[in-house]
Amino acid sequence: MTNSSPTSKDPSQAPKPSNFLRQIIEHDLAAGTYAKRRWAGSPGDAAHHANAPIDPAKLRLRFPPEPNGYLHIGHAKSICINFGLAKEYGGVCHMRFDDTNPEKEDREYVDSIIDAVKWLGFDWRFNDTEHLYQASDYFEYMYKAATLLIESGFAYVDEQSAQDMKDNRGDFNRPGVDSPFRTRSVSENLKRFQEMRDGMLSDASAVLRAKIDMAHPNINMRDPAIYRIRHATHHHTGDKWCIYPMYTFAHPIEDALEQITHSICTLEFEDQRPFYDWLLQKLIDAKFLSGPPPHQYEFARLNLTYVLTSKRKLKQLIDEHHVSGWDDPRMPTIVGLRRRGYTPESMRLFAERIGVSKSDSWIDYSTLEIALRDDLDPKASRASVVLDPLRLSITNWDEVMGSGHLEPCKAPVHPHLPDRGHRHFNLGSQVWIERADYQEIPTKGFFRLFPGNKVRLKYGYVIECTGSNKNDKGEITEVLATLIPNTKSGTPGSDSVKVKGVITWVGVQEAASIEVRLYDRLFTEAQPDAAGRDPMTTLNPDSLKIISAYAEPGLRECPAGERFQFERHGYFVADQVDHSNSHPVFNKITGLKDQWSS
Ligand code: ATP
Ligand code: MG
Repeated sequence: MTNSSPTSKDPSQAPKPSNFLRQIIEHDLAAGTYAKRRWAGSPGDAAHHANAPIDPAKLRLRFPPEPNGYLHIGHAKSICINFGLAKEYGGVCHMRFDDTNPEKEDREYVDSIIDAVKWLGFDWRFNDTEHLYQASDYFEYMYKAATLLIESGFAYVDEQSAQDMKDNRGDFNRPGVDSPFRTRSVSENLKRFQEMRDGMLSDASAVLRAKIDMAHPNINMRDPAIYRIRHATHHHTGDKWCIYPMYTFAHPIEDALEQITHSICTLEFEDQRPFYDWLLQKLIDAKFLSGPPPHQYEFARLNLTYVLTSKRKLKQLIDEHHVSGWDDPRMPTIVGLRRRGYTPESMRLFAERIGVSKSDSWIDYSTLEIALRDDLDPKASRASVVLDPLRLSITNWDEVMGSGHLEPCKAPVHPHLPDRGHRHFNLGSQVWIERADYQEIPTKGFFRLFPGNKVRLKYGYVIECTGSNKNDKGEITEVLATLIPNTKSGTPGSDSVKVKGVITWVGVQEAASIEVRLYDRLFTEAQPDAAGRDPMTTLNPDSLKIISAYAEPGLRECPAGERFQFERHGYFVADQVDHSNSHPVFNKITGLKDQWSS
């Protein structure tokens, strides 16, 4: 556990440690690297921005997901970095849908991504302008850029077979071999590229390639493909295009058109950086783009133990019915974590604590849960709930309290925040207690209920256990006790009887029946897909247990989405989808202590 106490200041407001991205940004701001950039109010090429005023945003970052699935905890890290840094340094982060791939994208995903970023507490407004973009809006610019490259002798249409192209790329030890189409004239290339655009060539019969160096030590620089033919309908541009830019060509252009300053991505793009820089320099030389160009920086992606962070594998969990959907509370998607009960504050705190680094590592799942507890502990209302109920009867109740009497009891809503007031419930002759709070023959160090021992019913009276009743099978069905008068919590003399144990309880007469969904890790292995293993072989068969429990009566009225600390048990949330006042359903968010360390 971290050393934060429930009364300490909001942990998300703690001073932020520096990291390599903050250092780069601070350096660029101090040096004025991007201070002369212009911004015409919308993305565009050099001509578009030429006479515009100096950009009022000190820096422009972007978050560029491909809308082909729901975002997960790894994306949350990227969102917190990009939107967080922009906010911190007086800039803006553009929300950009990287929808240059016609086949896999869908409106459903676009909407869910927008919701996820907003829920995490970020937006893309700057000076009353929304910076929400889609890469497919730039297809015309990208086509123009490709044409300019051809004209300046830096691109050619290659019609080798896919296999020849692959064979001729060479490998780490072997330089590539020039394509026979590499020496085509500019005019022939222009004509052929136009024919590609006009739909005269079939899929895979030709590609446009950058002309760099087939012997380059970085294979990504060996004349990478920049445009391909794909006769497919795009969800945004329809059938307007049958050629589509490759990601490595599109991405730098998208950044430059949007006047991005720092293009932050994950480490797997490191080898693409030389092409990113090469391309933008060529387009600045051709006066198509204005400088200075954006620069790419890479950080290590998030790997979290017991969690998969691949959209494809997450989709497999759904398709094979291991979980109920993208928002199943066991899923590491933002919608899943949200339904599980995670707060946006806890996710931001987690992102801040794990920081950014330049080398891959695994983060222990407990880091996420600790951030969650640090956020919830000072906020969550407390509640009494019995998860594994056993009846306790107070045999002298009628005698000492009066037949049918219900004794009002009160408990603080939050132990450290008196302003939050009190919860009210009644103690009667019968209460539900946790089965684990009674032992017929006590084990060493057990201070709760056993015959002859006294304990306090929390917020109520001291009782003395007198025994129990059993069924035919010898199972305990009821615990018996007597109440000791004048010991009620909060009354003078209540501590005249000393006890070592305090137990939670819920009155039988007024208890609310609730459904509780207890979640455990989805996989039994810390690195479910390590070393090429099929993660589905490590699924935890007990990742969900549904139980019936009893809660203090006030929980009947709580709205969906409200979070509680069930005393002694952990944090729970009223399920966003299935909870109603007639059928209360609570999800376990996490326990009070770390249960994850292995
Ligand atoms: P997946 O492999 O799950 O499909 P992706 O990387 O293809 O994910 P994109 O939609 O392309 O997903 O990603 C949007 C942004 O989120 C990118 O900048 C990417 O680097 C970042 N991102 C994706 N996964 C992680 C992760 N595990 N940790 C940090 N950032 C991530
Ligand atoms: Mg991707």
